[in-house]
Amino acid sequence: MKTLDFLAADDQLSEEERAIGRTVRDYAHSELAPRVSEWFEQGTIPSDVARGLGKLGVLGMHLDGYGCAGTSATAYGVACRELEAVDSGLRSLVSVQGSLAMFAIHRWGTEEHRTEWLPRMAAGEAIGCFGLTESDAGSDPGSMRTTARRDGGDWVINGAKMWITNGTLADVAVIWAQTDEGIRGFAVPTSTPGFSAHEIGRKLSLRASITAELVLDNVRLPESAAFPDIRGLKGPLTCLNEARYGILWGVVGAARSCLEESLAYTLEREQFGKPLAGFQLTQRKLADMTIAVNNAALVALHLGRLKDADALTPVQVSYGKLANVRAALDVARTARGMLGAAGITLDHSVMRHMNNLETVATYEGTEEMHSLSIGHALTGIPAFR
Ligand code: FAD
Repeated sequence: MKTLDFLAADDQLSEEERAIGRTVRDYAHSELAPRVSEWFEQGTIPSDVARGLGKLGVLGMHLDGYGCAGTSATAYGVACRELEAVDSGLRSLVSVQGSLAMFAIHRWGTEEHRTEWLPRMAAGEAIGCFGLTESDAGSDPGSMRTTARRDGGDWVINGAKMWITNGTLADVAVIWAQTDEGIRGFAVPTSTPGFSAHEIGRKLSLRASITAELVLDNVRLPESAAFPDIRGLKGPLTCLNEARYGILWGVVGAARSCLEESLAYTLEREQFGKPLAGFQLTQRKLADMTIAVNNAALVALHLGRLKDADALTPVQVSYGKLANVRAALDVARTARGMLGAAGITLDHSVMRHMNNLETVATYEGTEEMHSLSIGHALTGIPAFR
């Protein structure tokens, strides 16, 4: 079987980026892949996974200083791709830790926040979460109701955040709240009295990942907990942009994994006296999937290079997130069908990937939100409301 990197896109990577990709791929295959279906079935992910990923060096790997590796954005993307080839939950852990919580602290926090949290978070010894969404404020985070009000020299936060990845595992929560100066961000140690996290169960998607509701009941923090220099939605949106960038790479891995599995399965499985892969209808599917995976890989690589040149715009990230998640979902759904009955079990990865990608299509901006961003850029007319 020839390589599925049909257009040899990985030849465009630097030697270092390729080496990082190989290292993450080997680790993911040996340490994570054998256990992931069990985590998915149980609806959990053990906290030692974060320490392993910290040792591997992927947590906040694209950030500089404070124990972070300072790699290229492209190298970070390749790492996301290799992790999500195993499961979107693993890439979500890395995205939330590195691109949401660590990036927020690195970009918007104080020097004290950075030195207190980042080295331990890079090592996987401290976990972060990112609290933006609320039960009544999803696609429209500006309508959030969580408030932070000044009380003497302190801040007092009240409200609840919903659907928060790593919520019950976290040592620090980045919380966005309404203040009388606009939306502000806070680094909230989860041990603070009044803070609680409650796991959300009965998920059918992203099961190898913890999702939680955060409740903030008169959480009292010193002035120093606030991010000093950022007001309004720009704060959380800069972080989301980072995480969306990791997603547009990650889903290439999930799609590639579905293609690999359906190719191997149809070469092996015989019906009507020959391998399924020998039928024209199957080859058409394999060809379409190969094109989808490779086009998505090229989009990711191109956007990675733009990001490394500091030239990537938010609407280009919307393009990549929308295009690549849609392509990956199509590939996963096709692959699921190609495995027949076997495709519905956890003995194969296709339906796990397919279900995970339903979450990936929803979080970090739904398909509709990214379409509206592109529509706005094209027409000049905002149609969000
Ligand atoms: P809604 O905003 O209610 O949207 C419902 C549907 O309506 C969608 O299809 C949407 O596209 C559509 N819609 C909304 N507005 C419009 C419009 N103007 N025009 C057309 N269609 C529209 N959030 C965090 O802050 N931190 C996390 O760590 C986090 N992790 C998550 C993990 C999981 C497993 C999941 C499922 C979600 C997570 N989220 C997290 C929340 C996620 O970002 C939101 O679910 C997402 O922003 C969508 O919000 P919503 O679910 O409230 O949907």
